[in-house]
Amino acid sequence: MTDLEIAQSATLRPIADVAAELGLGADDLFSYGPHMAKVLRAPAAPRGKLILVTAITPTPAGEGKTTLSVGLTQALGHLGKRAAVAVREPSLGPVFGIKGGATGGGRSQVLPMEELNLHFTGDFHAITAANNLLAALVDNHLHQGNALGLDPRRIEIKRALDVNDRALRKVVLGLGGTADGVAREGGFELTVATEVMAIMALAEDLADLQARLGRILVGYTYDGKAVTAADLKADGSMAVLLKHALHPNLVQTLEGQPAFVHMGPFGNIAHGTNSIRATRLALGLADYVVTEAGFATDLGMEKYFDLVCRQAGFQPAAVVVLASIRALRHHGGAASYATPNPEAVKAGLANLEKHVENARLFGYDPVIALNRFTDDSPEELEILRNFARTTEVPFAVADIWAKGGAGGVELAEAVIKAADKQPAALQPLYPVESTIHEKLERIATSVYGADGVEYTKAALTAIQRAEAEGMGRTPVIVAKAAASLSDDPKLRGRPRGFKVTVTDLKQRRGAGFVVAYLGSINTLPGLPKDPAASRIHLDAEGNTRGLF
Ligand code: ADP
Ligand code: MG
Repeated sequence: MTDLEIAQSATLRPIADVAAELGLGADDLFSYGPHMAKVLRAPAAPRGKLILVTAITPTPAGEGKTTLSVGLTQALGHLGKRAAVAVREPSLGPVFGIKGGATGGGRSQVLPMEELNLHFTGDFHAITAANNLLAALVDNHLHQGNALGLDPRRIEIKRALDVNDRALRKVVLGLGGTADGVAREGGFELTVATEVMAIMALAEDLADLQARLGRILVGYTYDGKAVTAADLKADGSMAVLLKHALHPNLVQTLEGQPAFVHMGPFGNIAHGTNSIRATRLALGLADYVVTEAGFATDLGMEKYFDLVCRQAGFQPAAVVVLASIRALRHHGGAASYATPNPEAVKAGLANLEKHVENARLFGYDPVIALNRFTDDSPEELEILRNFARTTEVPFAVADIWAKGGAGGVELAEAVIKAADKQPAALQPLYPVESTIHEKLERIATSVYGADGVEYTKAALTAIQRAEAEGMGRTPVIVAKAAASLSDDPKLRGRPRGFKVTVTDLKQRRGAGFVVAYLGSINTLPGLPKDPAASRIHLDAEGNTRGLF
């Protein structure tokens, strides 16, 4: 059965029942039909333990972090625990492009799958609208006499849409005559890549949301002064458009547990995790909350600890590092990761070893979870089991894709044990007061295993400007290739003897971080030659088909 068929054949519980088990009443919910609701109640003091799911360096297909997060939550349910999962909302870009949806897979999914992967509760549409309102106000300002002296060549804000459409990456705006605006170069980015998305995932409350929106750097004047969204009086209307979307969404797992699915910032140019508000709400209602950080430990986990936990005061009780045999084959140099290759798996362990070390950098002894695929051979599994034994890392095979929660009980037991051990307090990697150079040096040499950091001239200028403009004392978000521990996507395994090169740095004043680019990162992907979109259709009864 396909993921969609499994999802469509499931019997969903009324969302009010799922909410009631968490102690939420009808007044706490704003329902979107019988199976989806926004939760209006303010978070209670945290009672639950937070479990962070991260992974080894992925293959392009994704290694199953969302699937494992959902499966582990279901498995905790099998052990009688009150568990919830908190993950991101899917973007339409990948849904119709290559990767597909982001609601888990097999017997470990969040539901209703179709709605979640499409319009859901409209959050992303609201974000697109708010972002584009700001963009419209910028161009209107230029048209209406440009009182602030905004330099059309130095505008940072782009328009947004949530569809992979490469032709809109760079466009010329305002063509026509004097009635049609001021001509300038502009562009689009995917909704999940906007700063508004990152802000929504980080905002503490409505007041914080509006203040952050006001701080967004729109561009610079002819004499080099920064212009913000508040200077254009855009923050108020943007906040009004986003007010409702700030409430976390409640849905359910295939096995009926609560699932908080809220916000979806990119994992490279932003921090790649669901909203702080949703996680905080879940921690006040459930005993275990499983959450996922985008990509591997070098991207998602580092940002989760250094940005999200620092701001929100979260202290995960356990870290799960997902491994898959196919990714180990890939890192061990296999030409194809789809066929058994014990030698490659052995060689690929170097990658996993580094990710285990990375968790330890922050004070965590992780649990390794093998996400089992049907073509994993017993010999390959044994290699991994041996590795875990000799390195004394807790390990479990998770068969949650094929079996749901029942296939993850061994993992859930290992996670509970790790969480009960009360780890040493989370150690962020760097003091936030250190300089941007110091932070980058620290991240690159410890987490990536690089020998050092090099900078292009453009990067040095941008860093100097950020420090001068008061953005030197924030966390640094590194945008780099997800396919390697280094900044070169072709380097598999555990690269050594390399330096990374910072090519640019952008200020995300509203989100409260700077983004350091290690090479160019595409914020509006294109569609492949054979996109998922060409297989999706409605059948004669109006049912969706072909959505994975
Ligand atoms: P990630 O969150 O790491 O990007 P996902 O959980 O979204 O990965 O999974 C990526 C894809 O792989 C999904 O289509 C999912 O159904 C599939 N998948 C995940 N785990 C398995 C598994 N054990 N066997 C087969 N397919 C899987
Ligand atoms: Mg995912």
